[in-house]
Amino acid sequence: MTTEKGTISINTENIFPIIKKFLYSDHEIFLRELVSNAVDATQKLQKLSSIGQFDGELGELKVKVSFDKDAKTITISDNGIGMTADEVKKYINQIAFSGAKEFVEKYQQESDKGNIIGQFGLGFYSAFMVAKEVEIITRSFQADAPAVRWFSDGSTEFEISAAERAERGTDVILHIAEDSEEFLDEHRLEQILTKYGKFLPTPIEFNDKVINNPSPVWVKPPSELTDEDYLKFYKELYPYSEDPLFWIHLNVDYPFNLTGVLYFPKVKQDFQLNREKIQLYSKQVFITDDVKDIVPEFLQLLHGVIDSPDIPLNVSRSYLQADGNVKRINTYITKKVGEKLAELFRENRPAFDEKWASIGLFVKYGVISDDKFFERAKEFILFKNTAGEHFTIDEYKTRLEANQMDKDGNAIALYTNDILKEDAYIEGAIKRGYDVLVFDDVLDAHFINALEMKVEKLKFKRVDSEALDKLIDKGLKTEVVLSEDEKKKVEESFKEFIGNNIVQIEALPVDDLPVSIVQTEFMRRYTDMSKINGQGGMFGAMPVMYNLVVNGNHPLIQKVAKEGNENGVAKQLVDLALLSQGMLSGKDLTQFIYRSVEKLG
Ligand code: ADP
Repeated sequence: MTTEKGTISINTENIFPIIKKFLYSDHEIFLRELVSNAVDATQKLQKLSSIGQFDGELGELKVKVSFDKDAKTITISDNGIGMTADEVKKYINQIAFSGAKEFVEKYQQESDKGNIIGQFGLGFYSAFMVAKEVEIITRSFQADAPAVRWFSDGSTEFEISAAERAERGTDVILHIAEDSEEFLDEHRLEQILTKYGKFLPTPIEFNDKVINNPSPVWVKPPSELTDEDYLKFYKELYPYSEDPLFWIHLNVDYPFNLTGVLYFPKVKQDFQLNREKIQLYSKQVFITDDVKDIVPEFLQLLHGVIDSPDIPLNVSRSYLQADGNVKRINTYITKKVGEKLAELFRENRPAFDEKWASIGLFVKYGVISDDKFFERAKEFILFKNTAGEHFTIDEYKTRLEANQMDKDGNAIALYTNDILKEDAYIEGAIKRGYDVLVFDDVLDAHFINALEMKVEKLKFKRVDSEALDKLIDKGLKTEVVLSEDEKKKVEESFKEFIGNNIVQIEALPVDDLPVSIVQTEFMRRYTDMSKINGQGGMFGAMPVMYNLVVNGNHPLIQKVAKEGNENGVAKQLVDLALLSQGMLSGKDLTQFIYRSVEKLG
């Protein structure tokens, strides 16, 4: 064979500088692309062998990556199908280079150039991001095919000549450019190989050791897998994480192709840290751990792997979101997660109750952010009360029927955000035969709002949002023993200690506290939500407005009604009420302590 020269047909002469410049942040993907090609070559040969079109020895199919610091080369070798001279011309000169051409054309149109970076699989051509010259030595698996050498120095010219290679397969030799010598480094190469190639289907050898697991759990049929297999794989993905709660094996091949395993981690309160743990693969090649546009927001808290060749990778964000397959994948994953949760709920309710603290965060997030998810989840949404019992929405509504219906037919669910701080109120509610739910995680304020919109005739009130007897307005009137004049005196006595807040005299049982502070449900939710949404705003936090509930039937209040604040009783009662809400601080707190000590003497 004589040396043949030719010109690669691309309109843009200076394609390399463009590619280099705009793929800068992602130069390392050259290795992903070349190793994937090498893996493909071995897989193709295996395929041919399995359908009887290759009857030679397959041997041990593998890919080997090596580098030579002195010669400044990186070599990717495989013992796959190789190429004949004609195939090199066709696949490398025409097909591979057409990818580059497409890239340049797209780059010229795209206004937001940042979008292209890393999304464009340039295939073989990406070699030129790091190499000044690229050589291919290849020999086809076909009997008697001679070995071929292809060479290009990074201009649009190439040459093809005869070469020496004893066995079938391909070596791609990169002569690394000066500005890319960072890649001639053992650790760097190993890190890139493990990042992209950890689960490639053919063994990848680097430094005489295999760096990948060619058959990860997601490519195996679920029937062949044990719990240990799934847990072991989880550790492989996240070596430092606690065991997950459970997992879902995804497997569809129509109308799109998708496999994967999603794990439910034990979620912590700072659940946002759990984000960005799902890895996206395409045929076992790692693509990204940024799955924002592919997985519904609330499920991004899950961990695991999704593998789909049907997610378009070389398109912009907005296009991806509009893509039909991506939408279907979204719906599919949400449905699977809903089904799995329903199954766990039905099969083992006690275990489900126990895991609710973690599961609840996903479910609540789902209910808040995805309208359709509520429909799936309403069966297994749970409420936990202060006694640690769990109820579904329906179960709880039935429970409320006995004693917690207001005069308009609403079921009133009482709750606490903090069983320790709100203990006095909880105790008061329980004394009245009410049940109190615990809502103490970050999403609860939004979750309660969402539920009130979706579940008819169910309202939530925090235990300290009204005087205890008014929490559930049954339309009954009780009379205070005080006369109108006494009421006025009581009001005046307290008023001077509470600024612009309101004194509210109520007829409560004698053994209830004489004075307590309540903040209306509406007011408190409003302040809580602005805290969650981070709105201190330019006016700072909103001042806390409250009502001072005074129990007109309490002996101490009857004392105030006669004597006013003569003995400092009113002041002391206000301070105690503030103290129990954590609202007494600074000088007021110090004086309160001194005063109390004095009274003991
Ligand atoms: P893609 O892999 O996306 O088809 P590439 O530019 O990476 O595009 O490669 C073009 C073609 O060159 C491949 O489809 C394949 O036919 C051929 N090829 C590349 N690398 C190898 C290899 N190591 N062994 C055999 N064929 C190869």
